Amino acid sequence: MEIVVASGKGGTGKTFVAANLAYYMKTSVEPVVAVDADAEAPDLLLTLGGSGEELFEKPVSASRKASIDYNKCTQCLKCLDACRFYALRVIEGKPFVIEEYCEGCNACGIVCPANCISLYVKETGIVRADVSRSGVPVVTADLDVGGRNSGELVFLAKSEAYALSRELKAKHVVVDAAAGIGCPVISSLAGAHVLITVVEPTPPSISGAKRLLEVAEKMRVKPFAVLNKFDMPSSRIDDPARELGVEVLGKIPYHRSVVEAYVNMKPLLAYAPDGEVSKRLKEIFNYFVESVLR
Ligand code: SF4
Ligand code: SF4
Repeated sequence: MEIVVASGKGGTGKTFVAANLAYYMKTSVEPVVAVDADAEAPDLLLTLGGSGEELFEKPVSASRKASIDYNKCTQCLKCLDACRFYALRVIEGKPFVIEEYCEGCNACGIVCPANCISLYVKETGIVRADVSRSGVPVVTADLDVGGRNSGELVFLAKSEAYALSRELKAKHVVVDAAAGIGCPVISSLAGAHVLITVVEPTPPSISGAKRLLEVAEKMRVKPFAVLNKFDMPSSRIDDPARELGVEVLGKIPYHRSVVEAYVNMKPLLAYAPDGEVSKRLKEIFNYFVESVLR
């Protein structure tokens, strides 16, 4: 089963929940492969202790860029009007492509009367797999700085995770999605069975979670929620299940041990297994595994 952990807004503790869920499943006889699908800022592997063993690393060429043949260019500049991404600039009368802005849409190539614009494929990132020091296999989508097409990178990372899960006989894949509802999140949800929305009790987090849940409904992914930092002083939500319209698996209190676990690069369940937050996490994950995954 594919379980996506996501949030409509950054900073809610999504990676914290995903890392500890994967660790819990690995230590409770539920073999699992974790995927870091937050391709612009992947940190799941670090949260699970860093790399204990590198399995593979594959470059990904998932974006196209425009290239101009100046031997044919007549400097008519029609291509500039066609580009909606401000990826063409004029220098000394000639058009130049700014690679970082180019989306590879080929609109410039279509309008060019001299037929002198072509597209080439560019490496945009890597997909790598490791066994973390805490023992969880992790596949990471890692986008290059300024790279584009993170949705396709996530798709490729998930494909590698499924191949690895077959090899390792792991029944489940836990995906740590990017924040928001952009292209990489859609790619994370595509084909997934379950969504765990991590939400904190603030208006921006609630409204972000509602947008995410709408997307999940359209993609027919079964939604659940976890309320993180429910006891923060600025809490603005009394009944999260009613507010969000989904089953809430549980509430997690705030405690500084969560930050300490991050600093020590360990999942909290390994760093402070007997603490109050770990106790809550185990209750939530046990209920989730027994009532949803079985
Ligand atoms: S449209 Fe073609 S010929 Fe005209 S400036 Fe652009 S690249 Fe050159
Ligand atoms: S391929 Fe698209 S984004 Fe890139 S320069 Fe041409 S029109 Fe602009």
